Amino acid sequence: MIRPSRDLIDPALLRAATELDSDELSTHTDHMREFEQVVRRQLELIGEDPEREGLQKTPSRVAKALSWLTRGYELDPAEVIGDALFAENHENMVMVRDIELYSMCEHHMLPFFGRAHVAYIPDGKIVGLSKIPRVVEVFARRLQVQERLGEQVADALEDVLKPKGVGVVIEAVHLCMMMRGVEKQNSRTITSSLRGVFKDDARTRSEFLRLAHPNGAGY
Ligand SMILES: [Zn+2]
Repeated sequence: MIRPSRDLIDPALLRAATELDSDELSTHTDHMREFEQVVRRQLELIGEDPEREGLQKTPSRVAKALSWLTRGYELDPAEVIGDALFAENHENMVMVRDIELYSMCEHHMLPFFGRAHVAYIPDGKIVGLSKIPRVVEVFARRLQVQERLGEQVADALEDVLKPKGVGVVIEAVHLCMMMRGVEKQNSRTITSSLRGVFKDDARTRSEFLRLAHPNGAGY
């Protein structure tokens, strides 16, 4: 294996790069270390032994997993959409169905998951279709309640696209209900968030809701 020799790199450049990263890196490391300590303590509090073999790496795994699952806090929908906006005179409904969705309820920090169906009617601007699932992701990867998640996706698309209307339907199952036996195991929660013509025009609204629930398809 060939290793790049440090001598080949301009020492000033190397120093600059190291200094730049080290602050950020140590904050990140401190943060993760504290996170791991908290998880370790949680293990103790539920009566576990954090030292037993299977659990030794659990605090670090949980800290990493939770950080990843809540990375939406660091994302901004406008940045995610970037320059994927195009001028277009299309005046009919654009819909992306069955967007896979994984989020965590803010009351129990347990997952809820399902699908989102997102539609809008453009008013001179359209967005790259692949960006819509990414906007859902920005808000799903935070602690959420399903109702707010739908509202935030609708608001973000309204802000960026200034469309004639937006509709978001989310159908999801909540592990906090299923695992605790609060609800029947297979009950789904369905929420809708409507803006503009999706709210004001009965025909648009019913077209959207019909497309969002063909035969009440499950998953
Ligand atoms: Zn919950």
